[in-house]
Amino acid sequence: MARKASNLAVAKAIMSHPGILLAKPSLNLFLIRYMRKFTVIDAEGRLVLHSHLPPLNSRAYARFISEHLIRKSNGPSHAQIGVTNACPQNCEYCYNKGRSGKVMDTETIRAVIRELKSMGVFWIGLTGGEPLLNGDLERIVESIGEDCSAKLFTTGCTLTPLRALDLMRAGLDFVSVSLDHWNEEIHDRVRGFRGAFRTALRAIEMFMNAGGMHVSVSAVLSGDMLKTDNVEEFLAFLRRLDVHEAWLSEAKPGVNAHRTGEQVISERERLDLIALQDRYNKEGGMTVNYLGHFEDREHFGCTAGHKMVYVDPFGELSPCVFIPMTFGNVLEKPLRDIYAGMRSRFPVEDRCFMNTNHGTIGGRYRGKIPLSAEDSLSVMDEVRFGPPARFFCLQDR
Ligand code: SF4
Repeated sequence: MARKASNLAVAKAIMSHPGILLAKPSLNLFLIRYMRKFTVIDAEGRLVLHSHLPPLNSRAYARFISEHLIRKSNGPSHAQIGVTNACPQNCEYCYNKGRSGKVMDTETIRAVIRELKSMGVFWIGLTGGEPLLNGDLERIVESIGEDCSAKLFTTGCTLTPLRALDLMRAGLDFVSVSLDHWNEEIHDRVRGFRGAFRTALRAIEMFMNAGGMHVSVSAVLSGDMLKTDNVEEFLAFLRRLDVHEAWLSEAKPGVNAHRTGEQVISERERLDLIALQDRYNKEGGMTVNYLGHFEDREHFGCTAGHKMVYVDPFGELSPCVFIPMTFGNVLEKPLRDIYAGMRSRFPVEDRCFMNTNHGTIGGRYRGKIPLSAEDSLSVMDEVRFGPPARFFCLQDR
């Protein structure tokens, strides 16, 4: 059950990072205002604002403060890594669908993690494919270490109570189980897998029983759900599951099936979701964490290719999981060098890069994702960026 952290515990956690007083007052004020939109949850001893940031009482949060808030690192802060491409499910909107090549082995993945951390990353999301199908997942989680948050995105397929315990002991901070609808039939259809719904519910229970982790549901909200105003009904269902957080995002436009852009969320729908999040979070209990709120122009905006990076299961470096472009392969070239080239093309901005530029990217689509490095660079010659979001404006002032 999501339990509110006491004010004293939150104050102690924040004061355990005295360096925060060295950050600009305007940034601290920004963070206080941002934090007040959420209720800090005590998830088995971890004080969590939401799962896109490390627990407040962690060494990973201390690195956020020292490296990104005070020292203003120009490197990435968040990374997602595809630890396998195998998956029994077949989601309509899967961002990995169609990617292929030679998969990274465990030692390569661990080396990628070391390199990303040395560049500034303090939050790593492990994704796939279905990460549980990687038999070395525990070793991978272990290598992330206490000074970086580890979050697992999973469908729950193949999970056992023992594996949930092993992952907790390996140091997983956050786990997010995919669940897109309260209706079993609809969820199974969207996931292209009979039994996906029940698998997800069982996995949530196993992770909760393992203890020691912050457990959320990650849901991709379909256009249908947004248009029929059913999000509240869905949230009521998730609350009854007793998870710590509902991590919401909308389906992003792809470059093949959905390249017309019909899938792009409207500004009205996005703002409605932000308002819904704020209203829910005032009530306490389960946190609602809508990605479009974190990435809103009033907060952190789109950081794809700059603060956020994605290393796919085959080693291709993309700006974020939803952008099907590569700027090089870590099996062929040092990650740091590929990142430097990509970052020089991606200033932070105040709107979602993929929602804005899916048409241009789709124009280069040759039946394979990600687009080649050459095609990706030619896309970058065409696109225009908006101004930075509020956090980065304050940082630069
Ligand atoms: S492209 Fe969109 S989904 Fe990706 S980091 Fe930017 S805002 Fe987020």
